[in-house]
Amino acid sequence: MKYNFNSGPSILPQTVYEQASQAILDYNNTGLSILEIGHRTPIFEGILDEASQLARELMGLSNDYEILFLHGGATTQFLQIPYNFLGASETAAYLDCGTWGTKAIKEAKAFGTVHLLGTSKDKNYSYIPKGYTIPDGIKYIHITSNNTIEGTQQNSWPEKNGAYLVADMSSDILSRQMDFNNFDLIYAGAQKNIGAAGVTFVAVKKDIISATVPDRHIPSMLDYRKHIDNGSMLNTPPVFAVYVCLLTLRWLKALGGLQAIEPVNNQKAKLLYDTLDTLPVFTPTVALEDRSVMNVVWIMENKTLEDAFLATCKEAGMVGIKGHRSVGGFRASLYNALPLSSVQALTDLMTDFAKKNG
Ligand SMILES: *Cc1c(COP(=O)(O)O)cnc(C)c1O
Repeated sequence: MKYNFNSGPSILPQTVYEQASQAILDYNNTGLSILEIGHRTPIFEGILDEASQLARELMGLSNDYEILFLHGGATTQFLQIPYNFLGASETAAYLDCGTWGTKAIKEAKAFGTVHLLGTSKDKNYSYIPKGYTIPDGIKYIHITSNNTIEGTQQNSWPEKNGAYLVADMSSDILSRQMDFNNFDLIYAGAQKNIGAAGVTFVAVKKDIISATVPDRHIPSMLDYRKHIDNGSMLNTPPVFAVYVCLLTLRWLKALGGLQAIEPVNNQKAKLLYDTLDTLPVFTPTVALEDRSVMNVVWIMENKTLEDAFLATCKEAGMVGIKGHRSVGGFRASLYNALPLSSVQALTDLMTDFAKKNG
């Protein structure tokens, strides 16, 4: 028995593993594996349609959005967004809250001007900058709703001042209710909360598509319009990864959707943060109001205990507790599919460890 706190690829529901395994052996009694079915078939078209519809329904997205399943991970979206929407003489506003936002900014600079709204680099990205205003004439605003590595999460959204709003939601999409219709483009690598690695979820509003940079040659695979025209089948889509998304979306719907999962996610995070706040051997590093519900980050002031703590976790079957190599310390990811009982097991272990080493 493992307790899987991996940050991505990460835990998915047990039923998804079972159904995905069965589909590899025999997809819906067709006598064919999901791995050997053509994508231009009613079978796969049905999978893609249902996955799009379920995502639309769970997020409450209006018909103004196109749903796409693309290749290249969230990282390709870092460049695809400015490639499509940031003209050489235009300015986009970015919020820099950590590793992923920094990478997105770097890519955008190759296409146009980047206006930095704020950065929390001064304090190791341990908070979300606030109080900025959006200048006039900004083409789009780019934010990261949840900073997977640093453990911060955004809870309020910028006033748009006429700009489009774009969000990297890779690590908290479908984890909480929000007005998704407030965003013009939402993207997420699937491997954290939606499904298997290999596919990127994109919801894009028709409005921003009409604001594509007119006089630029955009390679077909990076052109949202081409993907929309071809229904995410400009080339062979990652069939199996899309299928795993569908299974996860069905699971979430059966559970009661975001309305049902959000309180559970809050409960898991509260249990872990309360434990960290109670036990002096562990020190959470993120500003109280910006603590992520998905990725909980902490350090141990007494570095000599670090190895012992990791060894204790390992012995108990706790996987993925070590912090990202760029920041050190510890991190537990509490994505949708992680049960409350796993967090309970971790906090019990921490309490026990603190008692023995306090
Ligand atoms: C994991 C992650 C990425 C990178 O995703 P890839 O699919 O590996 O490109 C980008 N942004 C955020 C917020 C992430 O958590």
